[in-house]
Amino acid sequence: MSNAAIAQEVSKRRTFAIISHPDAGKTTITEKLLLLGNLIQKAGTVKGKKSDRHATSDWMTMEQDRGISITSSVMQFHWNDRVVNLLDTPGHEDFSEDTYRTLTAVDSALMIVDGAKGVEDRTIKLMDVCRLRDTPIFSFVNKMDRDIRDPIELLDEIEEVLKIQAAPINWPIGMSTFFKGVYNLYTDTIHVFKPGQNAVLSDDVRIQGLYSDEARALFEDDYDSYVEEIELVRGASHIFDREAFLAGKQTPVFFGTALANFGVREMLNDFVEWAPPPIARATTTREVSADEEPFSGFVFKIQANMDPKHRDRIAFMRICSGSYTRGMKMKHTRINKDVRIADAVTFLAGDRENVEEAWSGDIIGLHNHGTIQIGDTFTEGENLKFTGIPHFAPEMFQRVRSLDPLKIKQLQKGLQQLAEEGAVQLFQPLKNNDLVLGAVGQLQFEVVMFRLKDEYKVDCKYEPVSVQTARWVECNDNKMVEELRKKGYENLALDGGGLLTYLAPTRVNLSLTIERWPDVQFRATREH
Ligand code: GDP
Repeated sequence: MSNAAIAQEVSKRRTFAIISHPDAGKTTITEKLLLLGNLIQKAGTVKGKKSDRHATSDWMTMEQDRGISITSSVMQFHWNDRVVNLLDTPGHEDFSEDTYRTLTAVDSALMIVDGAKGVEDRTIKLMDVCRLRDTPIFSFVNKMDRDIRDPIELLDEIEEVLKIQAAPINWPIGMSTFFKGVYNLYTDTIHVFKPGQNAVLSDDVRIQGLYSDEARALFEDDYDSYVEEIELVRGASHIFDREAFLAGKQTPVFFGTALANFGVREMLNDFVEWAPPPIARATTTREVSADEEPFSGFVFKIQANMDPKHRDRIAFMRICSGSYTRGMKMKHTRINKDVRIADAVTFLAGDRENVEEAWSGDIIGLHNHGTIQIGDTFTEGENLKFTGIPHFAPEMFQRVRSLDPLKIKQLQKGLQQLAEEGAVQLFQPLKNNDLVLGAVGQLQFEVVMFRLKDEYKVDCKYEPVSVQTARWVECNDNKMVEELRKKGYENLALDGGGLLTYLAPTRVNLSLTIERWPDVQFRATREH
């Protein structure tokens, strides 16, 4: 395919994720986007993924119905001649690593703010992650059908707490039972809210002109005060500046109600216009532009047993340049091997399908038979490695034992595969045959135990282990590594990818070890 053809396909792509605090409305808005994108016909068919953030038992019952999570891992739909890729992120903070990595695979993000609650904790954290790469942020203030806080105050809060300029694009007219719609400050159009259209595509009712007779009729007795407020806002707020938005310094703000299905379409119209097409990405050697002809991509997420019918492991790859065509040969650069890929999948409309073609900005799923790790780069031949896909040292550790001694192999396989997903990490101490599991949150241990039983038919138990933190060992001097292996034998282990790791029994021990080995790096994050 020629450069021009690739550039044309790439310019249509918009790849993004939603960031929000639990309960702000991510599931509801996703559903409305799918309704607009024609992936579903009626709202209420995508079940909320309460699964990954409420009680563990919920997670488990929900996960038994894994079809739901598959549908929402990656969603692709068309809108106004654009191709939109929406990547799902888990809601529970124990899965935040997964979210961080997914945010490395998008070009922009949509922030949802609960209008009654304002900016909440997790949104602040996720914004910090977005800021690392100046990801452009769209904002949607949700729940206008309820009593929300003063919209001006909400804008101030976004600016102060999130340190980003807020530029309202539309302005709410009333709220709660008096919510009448939104006024677009740039097109001088009132989009009229009609309640009771929660489940289907709502009508697109517009009134042109704030000073029109229709506007007067709609606002009734409150007309003067609404007009006054809008004029005030127009005068006092930031004017939308696309350059500032693309630089991550300003966010356009929309108001609406996802539940009552209003305002999402208006936001999406501008989103596909303003959000950036696939951006250039850094590798260890050079920047790769999205419309380069040769194919390249990196893996940001791996999921095992996504579909009980298939029982396989899928590696999610973000294409960063060129295009994928079915049956093409790619180079797996970490292991320096060429592979022919004939069965990459997409997850359109909840069903996996073989992809014939995909372009830069798209996400494809590769079947992983154990050779792919999170962070791996694939190219059409060039030796590249995309950077910036983090792995954090776990903070909690447990030893895992199989209740049935005959199932140790099975346990090992299960742990290895689940660890590939990156939510937990597996360590095998040099000194014994223990299997030590590390995680950043308690929920992950419970999920692993459940999945081992469900997917690998192994009953296991956890035992305390005297490890407080882990550090990846890095050193160019092989002799020194050998010495460390001897002297630090007691506390060294190999991680799931075979890398040498120091499992420190205490923080003090870690500091002493770092002091003792000044030429060795003990890393708290591992770049894949
Ligand atoms: P998530 O945790 O961010 O995915 O949030 P959900 O989409 O599951 O929404 C959390 C709760 O808020 C659910 O009970 C929704 O029905 C409700 N909700 C979402 N959007 C709106 C809205 O616009 N108005 C009202 N009143 N409730 C909403």
